[in-house]
Amino acid sequence: MTHRIRVVGLCGGIGAGKSTVATLLAERGATVIDVDAIGRQVLADDDVHAAVVAEFGNGVLDADGAVDRKALAIEVFASEGRLADLEAISHPAINRELDRHLTQLADPTESAGTLLVILDMAVLVESDLGRLPNGRGYREVVVVEADLEIRLARLVDRGMTVEDASARMAAQADDAKRRAVADHVVVNNGDEVELAAEVDRLFQQLTSDPVTSGARPVPDRCTPGD
Ligand code: ADP
Repeated sequence: MTHRIRVVGLCGGIGAGKSTVATLLAERGATVIDVDAIGRQVLADDDVHAAVVAEFGNGVLDADGAVDRKALAIEVFASEGRLADLEAISHPAINRELDRHLTQLADPTESAGTLLVILDMAVLVESDLGRLPNGRGYREVVVVEADLEIRLARLVDRGMTVEDASARMAAQADDAKRRAVADHVVVNNGDEVELAAEVDRLFQQLTSDPVTSGARPVPDRCTPGD
């Protein structure tokens, strides 16, 4: 029997409900890779750690010498272009790790049939994250959307200040940009029951319909091993 993996990028503006959709898809049998968690892990890699210190200084380290993500976030959101500086360091490392995960999942001795793999990632349209050579990265995209005021209310409910939530939204791509790359859109303006029904439909499509888009162009600069 052949073992194939169908890799889907899942993104959405902060507060839209991306993580909730990822959880609902996992409950239905998808394998979810938390790309943002990999992003946190790679900060501990020696080469990433050294490059972050060289770029942002010792002020972003905690008392133990580890990267303090809060201090780093303050630096990154303080001025234009600093997020790109961080991503130039972290994204190649995240893609390498992602490639390793996907290669393991594609192991033909693991299981048979098609495995649905969801890359849960806040940043998708803005960068090369999750686009890997040789068709191993995502080949289609799910976008979770919700109205701005609903997203803000959810984030404030989650304990974020309006200022912090607004700054993070401003640093992300807008809905139009996300929609432009979407193969599937989940609108999450309703309650959790409505969302679950939407995710049922989505899961059905992702496990039965053919892949909706072809291979995405792979920019040279995200080649693992860079
Ligand atoms: P994201 O990952 O896109 O930032 P989350 O999935 O973490 O967003 O959702 C943000 C907050 O909104 C969470 O506290 C979540 O439980 C809540 N939430 C998400 N979707 C709904 C919904 N349809 N109804 C009510 N609360 C929701």
